[in-house]
Amino acid sequence: LELSLQHASKLEAVGRLTGGIAHDFNNMLSIVIGNLDLVKGSLQGDDKVLRRVESAIEGAHRCAELTSRLLAFSRRSPLQPKALEFTSFMPGLIKLLERTLGDRITISTDFATELPNVCVDHAQFEAAIINLAVNARDAMPNGGTLGIRIQHRDIPEQDGCEGTRFVEISIVDTGVGMSPAVLARVFEPFFTTKEAGKGTGLGLSMVYGFVQQSGGIITVDSSPGQGTRFVISMPALAKRGFASEADDHGTSAETV
Ligand code: ADP
Repeated sequence: LELSLQHASKLEAVGRLTGGIAHDFNNMLSIVIGNLDLVKGSLQGDDKVLRRVESAIEGAHRCAELTSRLLAFSRRSPLQPKALEFTSFMPGLIKLLERTLGDRITISTDFATELPNVCVDHAQFEAAIINLAVNARDAMPNGGTLGIRIQHRDIPEQDGCEGTRFVEISIVDTGVGMSPAVLARVFEPFFTTKEAGKGTGLGLSMVYGFVQQSGGIITVDSSPGQGTRFVISMPALAKRGFASEADDHGTSAETV
């Protein structure tokens, strides 16, 4: 618990700091891009200079992309949680993943029937899964399989405590895996093992923040050469998928 509190406050401090910097940096960057566009427009016939200006514009756009990611990270925009129904939500996301991951990655899915709904911000949920999937792809440079498994897990009523139901979303890859030293730091903001320009080290800390804000838990399990498994557990909404679909007043008469 102490560790996760430390982690959360570090995340918040880093978020505030990067937010301020990214915001000012973005303003200056738009001046740079605006002027470069003007220069480009006024160049006539000089291919060599044109190429250089174009590559400066490209670099500036990459910086802009990074700052917008930093802003998204620090903004902590209020989530807009809504009921998410997996059977209607997942097919679109899988299509998007197929396009994003390319031919070398095979996506294998395993969804339990009668999955209960969860309550999450749909866009952020999608972004979290994409983040995990893109990391998985990066860990499988020679191709491999990305497994997406969704099931529910019931914790029975015990000692007077109400039973609960979770939906578990597992993202499993057959990639290079992680050493214990890397594994211990994966959720840290700015921790990356990727070469400069390829990784920001913000992906997993964003996923972590989102899952936590949504009342869920994320765990990871990995070893070198064995691939990696991330599991997001989200509390299920009590309305659908229970044996006794109680009544319309939302009282939970179900036994799990
Ligand atoms: P980034 O992808 O920009 O490096 P992340 O926060 O998403 O930032 O990931 C941090 C680090 O965690 C990665 O650089 C990588 O070392 C490790 N990592 C994340 N996902 C995986 C995975 N599926 N397999 C192996 N290593 C991973």
